[in-house]
Amino acid sequence: SPAQMLGFDCDAPLPAAGELLQRRQRHFARPQNNYYRQPPQIERGWKEHLFDVEGRAYLDMVNNVTIVGHGHPRLSAAVGRQWSLLNTNSRFHYASVAEFSERLAELAPDGLDTVFLVNSGSEANDLAIRLAWAHSGARHILSLLEAYHGWTVASDAVSTSIADNPQALTTRPDWVHPVVSPNTYRGPFRGEGSTVDYVRAVTEKLEELDENRVGLAGFICEAVYGNAGGIPLPPGYLQAVYAMVRKRGGVCIADEVQVGYGRLGHYFWGFEEQGVVPDIITVAKGMGNGHPLGAVITRREIAEALEKEGYFFSSSGGSPVSSVVGLTVLDILHDEALQENARTVGDHLKARLQALGERFPLVGAVHGMGLYLGVEFVRDRETLEPATQETAAICNRLLELGVIMQPTGDHLNVLKIKPPLCLSRESADFFAEMLGRVLEEGW
Ligand code: PMP
Repeated sequence: SPAQMLGFDCDAPLPAAGELLQRRQRHFARPQNNYYRQPPQIERGWKEHLFDVEGRAYLDMVNNVTIVGHGHPRLSAAVGRQWSLLNTNSRFHYASVAEFSERLAELAPDGLDTVFLVNSGSEANDLAIRLAWAHSGARHILSLLEAYHGWTVASDAVSTSIADNPQALTTRPDWVHPVVSPNTYRGPFRGEGSTVDYVRAVTEKLEELDENRVGLAGFICEAVYGNAGGIPLPPGYLQAVYAMVRKRGGVCIADEVQVGYGRLGHYFWGFEEQGVVPDIITVAKGMGNGHPLGAVITRREIAEALEKEGYFFSSSGGSPVSSVVGLTVLDILHDEALQENARTVGDHLKARLQALGERFPLVGAVHGMGLYLGVEFVRDRETLEPATQETAAICNRLLELGVIMQPTGDHLNVLKIKPPLCLSRESADFFAEMLGRVLEEGW
């Protein structure tokens, strides 16, 4: 088996599931998930498949950090080699780190040629906010309601998703100004023609800041709304908002942590969908295939502003091992044409899910593109009443049928679909069939 090829002892006895769960509950500080009645105890993975401690197989439809798939032998070999040569950062080791930074600068639009390497998406967004502060000399940041940007202090401050952080709106510091979420499906203005209304909401917020003589440092958003289930922003929205932010001296930050790196299939970066070029790009998740790795890519003059007034040093950010992981992920993405796979398999899957929408009124909409999809469940297609309990029940039934899922959105009524980009057409079909079966037979 592939695992044996990698030197795992597949026959070694594994601890019993109950015992593992007990240990985890006693010592593991991560909150328990609240939608699975009986969470699986996952032990190992291969491509888009996961296996629990009893050897049961699951299709991993939501592990959005794993883009080249689980257990990739090229990654294991590259990590092993670099680990034995040099695993930690040394101020005098440049090769892998410089090569990875160069590759990222090549992938970014012209002019964004300076790269900071960190360990996660939250760190990348915190650093992006510090860069915006340093470059603009101002402090106030505009963000979108319903967004998630991370858990560290600054990235959490600009995250206003009530599903992720119920206190988000009450604990928000005064330098954060959320604007109405341009959610074209369930926001206050509906449909594609709503761009003007959503842009007006931003204009009004900016005029309010101008009147109070509040200096704008920047604007942060995802170009396709991940937390709401992969809803593209209204056409032209970012062009208009970026222009207004820049006119006031602010910088535009594109959070590409989830949406970037080929997941959209049709685009490598999410902001391409809106036809804009940001001043700062933040990346993480897929770039390390789950290994702690993040980056901020920006223009030299923005990076230099931070150097003048502060410092940046991350002990383990972009270590030689992380950089080799990053380089190998990019090689695999290219050699296995995974962005292309995300496009073709994603389009096929979306069509199959839309066909389910024609049969089952519970499916209010299928959002997204490539392998960045969301199925939004509603009790009523007119009022859009969210089918929150039904979504959790469907997730539980799908788990019994061998599919791992997660609800998302402020109402937890969207099935988040973000599998590894190597998802095969057969696996996509299996998922569509299982979802169809659950909708047909009940949950
Ligand atoms: N931004 C977005 C859009 C994300 O989805 C996430 C993670 N869910 C983050 C930032 C934070 O990344 P991390 O968990 O690596 O800190």
